[in-house]
Amino acid sequence: MNLHSFPLAADAFDEARHRVAGTVLRTPAVPSPSLAQMCGAPVHLKLEHLQTTGSFKLRGATNAVLSLDEVSRSKGVVGVSTGNHGRGLAYAARQAGIRCVICMSRLVPQNKVDAIRALGADVRIVGVSQDEAQVEVDRLVAEEGLTLLPPFDHADIIAGQGTVGLEVLEDVPQVETVLVPLSGGGLISGVAAAVKAEKPDVKVIGVSMERGAAMAASLDAGHPVQVPELPTLADSLGGGIGLDNRYTFRITRDLVDQVVLLSEVEIADGIRHAYFEERQVVEGSGAVCLAAIVAGKVRLSGPAVALLTGCNIDMNMHRRIICGENVDVMHEGEG
Ligand SMILES: *Cc1c(COP(=O)(O)O)cnc(C)c1O
Repeated sequence: MNLHSFPLAADAFDEARHRVAGTVLRTPAVPSPSLAQMCGAPVHLKLEHLQTTGSFKLRGATNAVLSLDEVSRSKGVVGVSTGNHGRGLAYAARQAGIRCVICMSRLVPQNKVDAIRALGADVRIVGVSQDEAQVEVDRLVAEEGLTLLPPFDHADIIAGQGTVGLEVLEDVPQVETVLVPLSGGGLISGVAAAVKAEKPDVKVIGVSMERGAAMAASLDAGHPVQVPELPTLADSLGGGIGLDNRYTFRITRDLVDQVVLLSEVEIADGIRHAYFEERQVVEGSGAVCLAAIVAGKVRLSGPAVALLTGCNIDMNMHRRIICGENVDVMHEGEG
């Protein structure tokens, strides 16, 4: 895809940035001497896990909420979420003073459910997959007139997430490679489009977990496919991309240069590296880019930026990982 057929206007990212400025923090990018030493190239970490609500999802959610017309605002918004989108959407809606309902599956960790309730959203737990939670969303849209704001496959969400890319270019103008955690592809679509519009030669690498990487399987198949949703340390990367995916599959296919998959052990190593070497508390999904470098799964020949995208990990789980336990989330809760 050339950038002219991109489903967003050329200035969508600049407009999004202006729109979200009052709600979203501008997060720092800091050099990582330890990663630079490991891979022989300068590496900056973009500390987006320090974002308000604990993840970048606030950017897309805020841009989408503030783009609604008056009638839609008066009825409110609804989201289906593995946690961080719900949290970002709840915060964005509260800031804008509108109603927010969040539907999620039972796989979502309790700490994330609690956090969303605390933000004043009406939380509904439905089924064991995002697809099942979607049924309740469809009902709320049809019967109560709420506007669905999905976690990734929406032009205003993608534009909001892309503001991360604008900041990366400003803070590390010499960047040659950007590493981005990849699930539904809203973040990587926005970042790749925003970055490549200005610097087409920058390489964009997506990082997912081996367990249930729907976008990677879809790219292999050449079209969106479903994969079983499995428990993983990178729980914010779980869930499908939607068989009726409109934007993110196409943009990821056309703009992303490489996708890397990580084992659970590698993700745990990434969380530990973030803590001991970078002194950052990062959730599994937020640690995958750093983990990919630590695992030696990406080759970097020039300056790179790795996004740390979220900090919403259960702190008890985090402590066990830091203490060296190989937490097998597959068997969590069984013993
Ligand atoms: C949602 C999320 C991602 C992946 O973003 P997508 O737009 O779904 O690809 C990565 N990291 C964290 C912490 C997230 O919450």
